Amino acid sequence: MEHYTRSTLNYFTPRALDRAVDKREDDAWFAAHLQDANARFVPVWREKNLYTTGDAPKPVFLSPTDADAFIATAESIVLLGQDENKTYFAIGLPAERDTPLVGMGKFRNLRWAAVLLEEQECALLAYAKSMALWHQRHRFCGACGSPTESISGGHARVCTDAGCGQTNFPQMSPAIIVLVTLGDRCLLGRKPEWPQGVYSTLAGFVEPAESLEAALAREVREEAGIEVKSIRYFASQPWPFPNSLMLGFMAQAASEEIRIDQDELEDARWFTREEIREGLAQGTFRLPLKLSISFHLIENWFDAGGMGSLRKIGD
Ligand SMILES: [Zn+2]
Repeated sequence: MEHYTRSTLNYFTPRALDRAVDKREDDAWFAAHLQDANARFVPVWREKNLYTTGDAPKPVFLSPTDADAFIATAESIVLLGQDENKTYFAIGLPAERDTPLVGMGKFRNLRWAAVLLEEQECALLAYAKSMALWHQRHRFCGACGSPTESISGGHARVCTDAGCGQTNFPQMSPAIIVLVTLGDRCLLGRKPEWPQGVYSTLAGFVEPAESLEAALAREVREEAGIEVKSIRYFASQPWPFPNSLMLGFMAQAASEEIRIDQDELEDARWFTREEIREGLAQGTFRLPLKLSISFHLIENWFDAGGMGSLRKIGD
């Protein structure tokens, strides 16, 4: 339960949404709910979501009347789920063509909008974007090259070649993300492309035939030259850029000398809580976005040190 509570701190998972898994195979229910007045369509075009323009952008969710003109030409329609009032569908628009929906607002990157949005809206946009992108990239069968078609309310695609018939399901890429500690210090690194002063936890993708623990030990060794021990699971966060699942861990270091891989990191250091507090207060040091699991890993460690709350520093 503790892990679940931590995961709900993290954005990009729509926790108040019933995913309506039992409705996905019910074609009659699907067709009826596409027309229902309580249906709402989350448009996705070229991996972007649609927002109103102006000072306080809000996501545009189309009603069945608004969406009617686009349903026939949609590349994908996916049943996302239901909350107490509405049934939500993702509507993927063909990337090859311009869309008349640009007249209703502006298509923007989720990363741009995430910090401005209410959490539940943000999670719905992330879910819609991930599903639309998966459909766009799986139009042809990986086994035989024939076209595929959407089934199961948009949660699978099946090969149209009768002799093949391979079914494909949306997949996420698991990645570990870890806060390594040594005594009263923690290990943070920075990539050269990050904004100035930003340091974060180490992270990397899990490879085929590799356990999470082995991936974690490998990544920390490769990026910072540090050996780890005492790995503990922390929480997880879907990271829709484009479709990762971040699996968060805490680990203790079994070695101290840092040797960075300069292809991955520009710098990595051991930080005390005092150094982090001072750097944040002076503006010389920055942490990742507060909506990210990397922030929550650092916060969990920092706040256990009796020096107050990390998220209040610099606010
Ligand atoms: Zn096939």
